[in-house]
Amino acid sequence: MARISQLLDAGPSLSFEFSAPRDADGANRLRQTLARLATHRPQFMSVTYGAGGATRGPTRDWVRAIRENYANLGVEAMPHLTCVSHSKREINEIINDYRADGIENILALRGDLPHNQPQPSQAFDTAVQLAAFIRQRASWDIAVAAHPEGHPMAASPQADRDHQAAKLAQADFAITQFGFRSEHYDRFLHDLRARGIDTPIIPGLMPPTNVAGIQRMSALNNTEFPTNIRERLEAASSPAHRRQIGVEVAAQLGRELLELGAPGLHIYTMNFPRAAAEVATTLGWPPT
Ligand code: FAD
Repeated sequence: MARISQLLDAGPSLSFEFSAPRDADGANRLRQTLARLATHRPQFMSVTYGAGGATRGPTRDWVRAIRENYANLGVEAMPHLTCVSHSKREINEIINDYRADGIENILALRGDLPHNQPQPSQAFDTAVQLAAFIRQRASWDIAVAAHPEGHPMAASPQADRDHQAAKLAQADFAITQFGFRSEHYDRFLHDLRARGIDTPIIPGLMPPTNVAGIQRMSALNNTEFPTNIRERLEAASSPAHRRQIGVEVAAQLGRELLELGAPGLHIYTMNFPRAAAEVATTLGWPPT
């Protein structure tokens, strides 16, 4: 298996993100989604990790399943790890488990606790602290989350950019929150370069097929959901037409991001294969 930063050196990568399901129906759907999307030969697939105890799914099991089933297609698997509600001992155990599994890449995150959950006493407040802790214990690639439009809880745009620059300086690569305008990514790269940071930053792409869902998540993440895109989607004559528009929007954005020098594209799948597969096909993955 491989370090993702090395895979990025070989040219633009494709990756897909999945959520670890918490019931049998979700597991069946994810199994089918993985099988469908593996045929696009992504460089890696990543699996989320809930920040609150109740929202934690079996991330480790799915990372193992991806490696067992799709390593033969060259697909690497990367677990997400959030620190906001873990003790140091627990994080250490998780790192040891992943070491035993032969993991070489991890996405280190702070995470967000569900609103109804009390704040536990925690060992780590930020992703930077988690990344530093992992770095002392494992010689893996450490990825971090990037927020080109600014994190919603940032004290100020300037403090946010400075924090993100410090975080990316420690990381092997980053993956961004999803967005719909390449200008935000371009400006983010520019601001980071001005701070001396050249860590590879893979932009996140979310095919906008579910208008209400995108509106809700965009508001939570501080992501601009452009009116012209929303209006096109709302005017669609059927769900199939809406998906076609969402795929066109995401593929066009993907082209623009690659033209700006993005080292790859990371597609948020929401565990549904179709739109993600159509974006990959439109952009020519797998290359013939
Ligand atoms: P951090 O970088 O620690 O902090 C977030 C923000 O807080 C910073 O951008 C900054 O504005 C502010 N901040 C923190 N420290 C400082 C400081 N010292 N000085 C100034 N400002 C500071 N969540 C999950 O629960 N599970 C997942 O699997 C998951 N996967 C994700 C994958 C990707 C690619 C992305 C982009 C996000 C993901 N998230 C996930 C969401 C993420 O956990 C939230 O966005 C969370 O609020 C921030 O996490 P972070 O690692 O960016 O935090």
